[in-house]
Amino acid sequence: MKSKVVLLRCPDYDGEKIKEELRWGMAQLGGVERFFSREEKILLKPNLLRKAAPESAVVTHPAVVSAMAELLLEAGCRKLSYGDSVGVGSMEKIAEGCGLADAMKELAIPMADFNACVRTEYPEGKMARRFHMAKAVTEADALLNLSKMKTHQLERMTGAVKNMYGCIQGLHKAKGHTRYSNAESFARMLVDLNRYVRPRLYVMDGITAMEGNGPASGNPVAMGVMLISADPVALDSVCCSLMHLKPDLVPTNVQGAKMGLGVWKDDAIDVITREGILSPLQAGERYGKADFDVERGKKVRRLWRQIRWISRHFQRRPYIVESRCIRCGICVEACPVEGKAISLTKPQAPVYDYKKCIACFCCQEMCPQKAIQVK
Ligand code: SF4
Ligand code: SF4
Repeated sequence: MKSKVVLLRCPDYDGEKIKEELRWGMAQLGGVERFFSREEKILLKPNLLRKAAPESAVVTHPAVVSAMAELLLEAGCRKLSYGDSVGVGSMEKIAEGCGLADAMKELAIPMADFNACVRTEYPEGKMARRFHMAKAVTEADALLNLSKMKTHQLERMTGAVKNMYGCIQGLHKAKGHTRYSNAESFARMLVDLNRYVRPRLYVMDGITAMEGNGPASGNPVAMGVMLISADPVALDSVCCSLMHLKPDLVPTNVQGAKMGLGVWKDDAIDVITREGILSPLQAGERYGKADFDVERGKKVRRLWRQIRWISRHFQRRPYIVESRCIRCGICVEACPVEGKAISLTKPQAPVYDYKKCIACFCCQEMCPQKAIQVK
């Protein structure tokens, strides 16, 4: 049996059009009722990385979250809540800033508790055997993952699998970057996290995606698509095809398949569209963007790894574009390394201690000014 990924076309964030498309997409997968029952407490988990206007493509657009929530409400699922473990700041402020708080208020959907932490054991884990979860995740009966199509410095792209990292309670998210400090181990931990929580359904907002210096400082780009699937690896693989990025260059795809979370190969996925069933490659050719700005190099990466083993000076690392920096200190706050690998003494711009830096790019993700680039 092939994994199914529904590809929906949507030129903009018109709420009615999004809902109509999602309704059609859900029908292709057996309807809302196939995934959720009325009595269940369902947690909506968008990407709320940091405070940003929805058109900047940093967060899952509120129109997509609302439309999906409305479909659940129409199906009789009344016990809905929403939330995400944010990088820096408070979830309340981020939800207010992007318009999600108002949209959820209109639907009478409460914000869940992502501040409290519950330590959970997962003996079956292949990389991670315990998680410090946000309490809201442990209290939900079912989770609906609503990710954003974006580039990522560590994993090349972030989508369905990576979006689950927001289930880890805030403080422990930073620690995870030090424990799983390379792309492969981080990907394996993410796969375990998905296997443990088992979201029922994954939806991706790719109407406006982010290319370049993602996941927070890149450029919005019109892709005009949404994806739905129960298989997060297949969904991310289709996302890669749309970005014209080979899916096997993304560690969460490769590790996800190895660890039994899903499939990424072209012949293992049916992409369902209104124009018929396609393979991911065909979908990429028809609806993707050949010049999508994402890191595609393979040999260079391998070579980098070897060089890094010899000398840390050749490692990809962040640097500050001083003219853009407003000296807010958020990057210092975001650094998970004990004793910090970045420091700020005003009025100077922040300074890196590359001997301590583990290249997790948390600082780059959190900078509100796009002042941190990667070289
Ligand atoms: S680099 Fe970004 S996050 Fe750090 S102080 Fe400057 S503006 Fe703030
Ligand atoms: S300085 Fe930035 S990239 Fe380096 S460890 Fe700290 S947060 Fe990660």
